Amino acid sequence: MPEFRQNMVSKEWVIIATERAKRPDQFLQKKEEKGPLPPLREDCPFCPGNESKTPPSLYSIERNGTWSLRVVPNKFAALQSHLTTQRKHEGRFLKADGFGIAEVVIETPYHNRTIATMDMEEVRHTVRAYKERYLALADTGKVDLITIFRNYGERAGTSLEHPHSQIIATPIVPPHVRNPLYQSQLACDTFGDCIYCGMMEEERRQQVRIVEETPFFLVLCPFASRSPFETRIYPKTHRSSFASVSDQELMEFAQVLQRTLKRLYIGLNDPDYNYIIRSAPIEDSDVKYHHWYLVIVPKLTTPAGFEIGTGIYINTPLPEQCAEFLRGISV
Ligand SMILES: [Zn+2]
Ligand SMILES: [Zn+2]
Repeated sequence: MPEFRQNMVSKEWVIIATERAKRPDQFLQKKEEKGPLPPLREDCPFCPGNESKTPPSLYSIERNGTWSLRVVPNKFAALQSHLTTQRKHEGRFLKADGFGIAEVVIETPYHNRTIATMDMEEVRHTVRAYKERYLALADTGKVDLITIFRNYGERAGTSLEHPHSQIIATPIVPPHVRNPLYQSQLACDTFGDCIYCGMMEEERRQQVRIVEETPFFLVLCPFASRSPFETRIYPKTHRSSFASVSDQELMEFAQVLQRTLKRLYIGLNDPDYNYIIRSAPIEDSDVKYHHWYLVIVPKLTTPAGFEIGTGIYINTPLPEQCAEFLRGISV
C-alpha cells in the first residue's frame, strides 16, 4: 500500500510507494570500471605542485611540513565578492548584483581519497575548516546565509575528482530555506520547544529509522525521506547554528560523518551524493526554533515530471529498510 508521509518541518509530502519497492541492496551502484584514481594528477589544479593554478590560500593546515588542507576562493563561482548587496527594483521586478563569497575546501593533497577513505585527521581538518571559514564569513557582516556542501561524483554535479567541498555565503535567504524556518517558528509558538528536538525524541522512541547514536549525534533516515537513503546527522545538543558547535562535538562530528559516508560507500558501492550543512541564517544564529544538521542525498534516482510538477517526491524503499541496511554495515 502506497503511503503519504509529511515532513514535520517543511510540511512537504512524499509518497512511499512500496508497490514499486526495490530492496535496499538493489540500489547498489554499478560503476563502470575506470580503474583506481592516481594519488596525484599533474593536470589537477588541486593537487600539490599546482598551487599557482588556484588563488592563494585563505586558510590552510600544515602536516609534516606540507599542506594537508587548503581553502581557496572559488575561481569559477557564480557569485562575486566585490559587488554590492543592494536590491534594485524595476517596476514589479526585483534584482540585485550577484554578490556572494564562494570558497573551495581542498580537503587533502591526495587526489584519490574521499571522506569515506581519508585518514581521520583529514576529516577532522575538514570539519574544523568548515567552522573556521563559517566564522570568518559571518564576521564580514555582508552575508545572511552560509551554506556548506559537498558534491561528490558526476551525478551530484561535479566533474572535479579531487576531494573538495564548497562554502557559499549569500546576502539572500531564499524561500527554500526561509519557509521551513517559518514553519519551525510556528511550531515553536505552538509547542513551546524546538520541533527538531521533538522529532529526535520520537525517533529515539521508535528506533526504526536510527542508523547510529553517539553521545553527541543521532544519525537517521528521515520519516519522510524524499529519495532512497537520504540520511541526516543531527546534533543532540540544541544549537541553531553550525558555528556554535563545541570542539568536542566537532571532533565527534568528523567521526560520525566518516562512518556514515563509509556505510554508503561500502553498502552501495561508492554512490555519488550531495551533502549539505543546514545552519540557521546569521541573524537567527541563536534561536530556539532552528536546529542545525547535515543531510546526505545519495544520487540514486532522478526527479521526473511528477516530482517537478507537484513537489511531491515518490520514494521507493522504506526509510526504515534503508536505516536497517545501513546499520548492518560494519564500519
Ligand atoms: Zn588532484
Ligand atoms: Zn533543537
